[in-house]
Amino acid sequence: MGRQKTIVVALGGNAILQPGQKGTAEEQLRNVDATAKQIAQLIASGYRVVITHGNGPQVGNLLIQHEAGSSQVPALPLDVCGAQSQGQIGYMMQQCLGKRLKEMGIEKPVVTVVTQMIVSKDDPAFAKPSKPVGPFYTEEQARLRMEQKGETWVEDAGRGWRKVVPSPDPISMVEKEAILALVESGVVVIANGGGGIPVVQKDGYYEGVEAVIDKDLGGQRLAMDVGADMFVILTDVDKVALHYKTPEQVNLDQMTLAEVEKYQKEGHFKAGSMGPKVEACRRFVAAGGEVAIIASLDTAIDAINGRAGTRIVR
Ligand code: ADP
Ligand code: MG
Repeated sequence: MGRQKTIVVALGGNAILQPGQKGTAEEQLRNVDATAKQIAQLIASGYRVVITHGNGPQVGNLLIQHEAGSSQVPALPLDVCGAQSQGQIGYMMQQCLGKRLKEMGIEKPVVTVVTQMIVSKDDPAFAKPSKPVGPFYTEEQARLRMEQKGETWVEDAGRGWRKVVPSPDPISMVEKEAILALVESGVVVIANGGGGIPVVQKDGYYEGVEAVIDKDLGGQRLAMDVGADMFVILTDVDKVALHYKTPEQVNLDQMTLAEVEKYQKEGHFKAGSMGPKVEACRRFVAAGGEVAIIASLDTAIDAINGRAGTRIVR
């Protein structure tokens, strides 16, 4: 058998919390377990797997909890909530995946690394906060926060006002060497959850910033840093489409880099959902990765074997 292939799997929101669910621990654990079964199969078929995941709903809920409880306990900032969510989701995955592997007779440690992702202070994203986080407020409350704290708030499609934060480009993980050492020693690693906790360099050290990193773009950095052969984004649609949700919709089995760039220019991939996934795959392949795949969570195994999803190749 040749060298063992390394796959970085980026799990979307639906792997942890499904639309319409409240977000109880039981619900999240059940979803994570269903995902863990799939990942255990990948590991059983001989791949070295590194897992990353989104954290939007979990961080949103933490922000609500912190704010609601702030008369008794100080509310914690966004970077700390990011770390909390990495720990929470990682814990659930460690438990579920550990169990599923054991059932299959595979004794492999599963470990979560709380991961800091370096971003640049000069990233243009800091000049235009764009990513909504946390609870909805009334216009009056939002205006007060803008005046008192200098925050940016926007009206969100008639549902109320929401704070927006910058979404800078990920550069490199602080814990890169540690993650690589774990992966190479055969540990199943969960890392860079939520795209990583955004930090900036200050006097040679790191400091958390109020921002969020796109989890797919962050996943691509992770994939490069661990030298992955394959980068797989698992979401809630079977394939990437052109003319998505129009009568002309065409689902794609494969895109070359040139095609990706053409379709990106034509505006087929929505910002904030499919846009960053396609861009993350483009970056992975452009930087020398073998293949990147976007597929639905329940077709993970087939997608990796070339029978489902959309493949991005050179
Ligand atoms: P995740 O939580 O997995 O990151 P997102 O909601 O961010 O999921 O992104 C997946 C969504 O992207 C799909 O549910 C789909 O509605 C949307 N989408 C936007 N453009 C496209 C496209 N061109 N092809 C397929 N899906 C698209
Ligand atoms: Mg997303």
